[in-house]
Amino acid sequence: MLNKKYLEEWDKEYFWHPFTQMKVYREEENIIVERGEGVYVYDIYGRKFLDGVSSLWCNVHGHNHPKLNQAVIEQVHKIAHFTTLGASNVPAVVFAKNLVDITPPKLTKVFYSEDGAEAMEIAIKIAYHYWHNKGEKQKNKFVTLSEAYHGDTIGSVSVGGINIFHEKYRPLLFDVYKMPSPYLEAVKKAGREKALEYDTTKLLIEEVEEFIFKNHQEIAAFVLEAGVQGAAGILPFPKGYMKEIRRICDEYNILMIVDEVATGFGRSGSMFACEREGIEPDIMALGKGITGGYLPLAATLVTDEIFNEFLGEFGEAKHFYHGHTYTGNPLACSVAIASLEVFEEEQTLKKLQPKIKLLTDKLSEFWELEHVGDVRQYGFMAGVELVKDKKTGEPFPYGERTGFKVAKMMIERGIWVRPLGDVMVIMPPLAIKEEELEFFLDTLKECIALL
Ligand SMILES: *Cc1c(COP(=O)(O)O)cnc(C)c1O
Repeated sequence: MLNKKYLEEWDKEYFWHPFTQMKVYREEENIIVERGEGVYVYDIYGRKFLDGVSSLWCNVHGHNHPKLNQAVIEQVHKIAHFTTLGASNVPAVVFAKNLVDITPPKLTKVFYSEDGAEAMEIAIKIAYHYWHNKGEKQKNKFVTLSEAYHGDTIGSVSVGGINIFHEKYRPLLFDVYKMPSPYLEAVKKAGREKALEYDTTKLLIEEVEEFIFKNHQEIAAFVLEAGVQGAAGILPFPKGYMKEIRRICDEYNILMIVDEVATGFGRSGSMFACEREGIEPDIMALGKGITGGYLPLAATLVTDEIFNEFLGEFGEAKHFYHGHTYTGNPLACSVAIASLEVFEEEQTLKKLQPKIKLLTDKLSEFWELEHVGDVRQYGFMAGVELVKDKKTGEPFPYGERTGFKVAKMMIERGIWVRPLGDVMVIMPPLAIKEEELEFFLDTLKECIALL
């Protein structure tokens, strides 16, 4: 075993962490995780933490799960990787079939990648290329939403809308048309209490439809997250919003690209948020929970209609020029197959329903806290927004890192969380027990009250 002091030193000396101000990180005491068990992780000193963010929104059945471990072990004894460029491997074939079986019926073809951002990058390229192959080259623009998050590669950032992450890269990005964030616009139009009710959808849709009516000839696709804008601070869409977008896309001959990277694999309360919202997209991006949180894998699913436009003789050069070294990696696909089996065996979705209800009930208590300005939930994900002044909604100053202060108190109490700015995110693995969830929420409430 390495000297723990070396690990800490090397971590600060050599490892540039994602989404992390390294100056601050290097001044602080950090957690170096060594192992996990169920919903808990243990650091190199044996300290135990509840994984309150599912290892960044991807863990489903808990860490160190015997069945998922077994899937990796069995596969690694066969083969760890072989290319899928013009060839195939057993787990990638089986999992493609599994995905087509469980996603909306229109989606029949699977293109693999490794991360959510890539799955979205691929979705964008396919949509653009589809219209090109169809001979409608003028359809090359994308409509996106303010406050959207689709990952950190240049194409995914182009369709993103979170200023603090994305604005710096503006000169590198392609232009998109941006519609208002449905939740924020609904709050503006109808107030917080009524924001998610049905008629706010009508108010929002008029604007969108008018814009699409005028510009549809040059629009390739409408891009949106499924049911909720996650990284923006858990902003759920008003009821029926996605159905209306589906209707508009149908009416004006526009593809609908739905990003289920965060919501897929049970997080929304259904297997996919599209099910819950009653829509079928033309292109769907999956990632995060796809392997139960074990290995990097993502997928972009499309309809036959889209796939068929890429068919032709080799010399026609209609095929999709895109691929990665590890596309369809057998280890990742084998654990993804096993994760779907665990969903069945452990009745994960059925057991989740009372936990979603418990989350709703406990969240209602947060409104009484002095520094809570909004409380939002979508399935088994939630955000509690901290504000300086509850009456006016005035936020805490950015540099004060109020969210991080609360997170630090949580970590001291044995729960690892990572806020989005001043929004405290509640995103434990689906497999968490009710008493563990209660402990999580009671602790969060206690910490916010200390502000
Ligand atoms: C996390 C996320 C992504 C990006 O996925 P990565 O695996 O981090 O690249 C894309 N879209 C949504 C909605 C996400 O939450």
